[in-house]
Amino acid sequence: MTIIDLRSDTVTKPSPAMRAAMAAADVGDDVYGEDPTVNRLEALAAGMLGTDAAVFVASGTQSNLLAIMAHCRRGDEYIAGQAAHCYRYEGGGAAVLGGVQPQPLDFEPDGTLDLGRVAAAIKPVDSHFARTRLLCLENTQAGKALPVAYLARVASFTRVRELALHLDGARLFNAAVALGVEAREIARHFDSVSVCLSKGLGAPVGSLLCGSRELVAEARRWRKVLGGGMRQAGVLAAAGIIALAENVDRLADDHATARRLAEGLAAIGGLAVDPAAVQTNMVFLCLPPARADALAAYLRERGILISGRESIRLVTHLDVTREDVDRVVAVFREYFAGPGRSLAEGGTCS
Ligand SMILES: *Cc1c(COP(=O)(O)O)cnc(C)c1O
Repeated sequence: MTIIDLRSDTVTKPSPAMRAAMAAADVGDDVYGEDPTVNRLEALAAGMLGTDAAVFVASGTQSNLLAIMAHCRRGDEYIAGQAAHCYRYEGGGAAVLGGVQPQPLDFEPDGTLDLGRVAAAIKPVDSHFARTRLLCLENTQAGKALPVAYLARVASFTRVRELALHLDGARLFNAAVALGVEAREIARHFDSVSVCLSKGLGAPVGSLLCGSRELVAEARRWRKVLGGGMRQAGVLAAAGIIALAENVDRLADDHATARRLAEGLAAIGGLAVDPAAVQTNMVFLCLPPARADALAAYLRERGILISGRESIRLVTHLDVTREDVDRVVAVFREYFAGPGRSLAEGGTCS
């Protein structure tokens, strides 16, 4: 049975071209700055994002942590979304390892942070308070691409308020493709940008933190302190080069596949899915948790993997074809047609 894995776009396996490039990679000691393949990847990423420099790191989590530690000192504060990866899903790393306190705020429905609420959260200059130094945005945020006009407003806001501005752009290229703009048109509003190679771009490992020469030099220092200095890392960077060179434009295919999946699911009576809300490679649907568990088990027996309970997230990627999503829709339809499983009886959550 072939598995259709919709849990995340992190599950892709490196392509034969990536494996060949990894095997053939020219390498050196990257802690000495001497790995030619890492250097090539960093230059390629900086060029694509229009920044002075970039540093290759182990993961998106490490990249965000390095950004926060490069922008902030002990006793400082960063503002981020309540559901932001860099606040909620990174083990509290900024506080644990950097002594930097988070100030979470709810995201707006479109994935932005309301600037009035951000302004109200900035602490006065007074010894009672942490020093608010940094604002972090996420793009895409739960599959939504932030409007470019909003980014320009945020950039002038942070300039006036003397905050640094970081973008967790784990899926920045999905946002760029969805909006039909170059990645640098998004990146130019930020002081630092993190991008993941190991999600929709299909590399096995790695992220890049991009920004000014000074910011990247500081991040490089913290990468070493945190044990993230890698040696002949060109074997990993080689796959990343292919990810950036070959797998950006094709993200449009993942977005089309996600839209097709949402349309198919929306046609199943009672299933709360909005195809018009699908901007990139994620489809969300909502079921009561007990029903979500039963559905997930049914799908798993048929080779389809999903994750989430209250909100189920289905993610398309390189290894999910149009035929795969048609099969997923058919199995969902079969499940909800079963005895006692009609959504009219179980209902959906609000
Ligand atoms: C996946 C992800 C990260 C971190 O990536 P890891 O490589 O898993 O550490 C950061 N931010 C967002 C929005 C992500 O989706």
